[in-house]
Amino acid sequence: MSRFWSSAVHDLDPYVAGEQPKIAGLVKLNTNENPYGPSPRVIEAIAAAANDRLRLYPDPSSTILRQSIANRFDLALDQVFVGNGSDEVLAFVFAGLLKHDLPLLYPDITYSFYKTYARLFNVTVEEVPLDGQLGIRIADYDRPCGAIILANPNAPTGIALPLSAIEALVTGHPDQVVVVDEAYVDFGGESAASLISRYENLLVVQTFSKSRSLAGLRVGFALGQRPLIEALERMKDSFNSYPLDTLAQTAATAAVEDEAWFCETRDRIVASRDRLTAALTERGFEVLPSSANFVFARHSAHPGGDLVRALRERAVLVRHFTKPRIADFLRITIGTEEECRQLLTAIDQII
Ligand code: PMP
Repeated sequence: MSRFWSSAVHDLDPYVAGEQPKIAGLVKLNTNENPYGPSPRVIEAIAAAANDRLRLYPDPSSTILRQSIANRFDLALDQVFVGNGSDEVLAFVFAGLLKHDLPLLYPDITYSFYKTYARLFNVTVEEVPLDGQLGIRIADYDRPCGAIILANPNAPTGIALPLSAIEALVTGHPDQVVVVDEAYVDFGGESAASLISRYENLLVVQTFSKSRSLAGLRVGFALGQRPLIEALERMKDSFNSYPLDTLAQTAATAAVEDEAWFCETRDRIVASRDRLTAALTERGFEVLPSSANFVFARHSAHPGGDLVRALRERAVLVRHFTKPRIADFLRITIGTEEECRQLLTAIDQII
């Protein structure tokens, strides 16, 4: 607190990211990073672009990257918006599309940045409780609202809704924007990108941080019909004309174009997730059905807080949320096979 602060600063409720400690030998399963590196073509692209042309500003509209994303989703260039991580894309979404007289709806348990952005941009919200199995029930969103945002798969549960449920939500709210945050969709969900040509009120947000293994590059994007994308462009050009630097644009384009690497690393993570789910279940955990690169699990006999601390003492970091209903759950990122094994060894020692 300082007398130099603007009044707005006092009212903020900043997002707390998973920690990034520098502990030797740490098994880091707390921020849903990809355990495999990005495509080698990404590294080559960055090396090739690391030259004296960096004295120039980047393309402010990231045209080449947007075109490659558009091609992959069978959309037009002007139906793609890119930003500095999907967090930045979501900031523009909140400010530019989700603030209306009626409240914005989102689940009471979801990505906690939504609450932070709602606070920052003065968006009135109404949290919709998850059902008894910690799932999203589309019928619960059938109430007056200004807009809706859902993560699909949801975070931190990992549970995905089928495309038919997303479509029902979109058709049930023809006068509201429905935003689907698909940060984890590539690990087993069904993307709503295929619906964009049919619904003017649908916006899909994705990221390069998870399935493309580029959390350090900061690239995210939104897909939607022209009026929605135009709102985001107007927000961006009122805030930062060059959100993606030259290296990020080049590298992300190379990532989109290496579909083989994408599929191979994704398949490895999905296979590890299935093995880890079975191993945790054998050890007395309840593991929610995950379509993401993490699992959300609780043990019948060990409180979540105790487990997190005991794991940390063994240099294994997982994420824990001290929220009602989920305080006993651990959110565990799928690591390499070796990291999963180290996690299980630590769990065996603890329980
Ligand atoms: N949406 C969800 C649901 C997430 O979990 C995350 C990662 N914290 C993001 C968006 C943002 O990811 P990024 O800014 O790295 O694209």
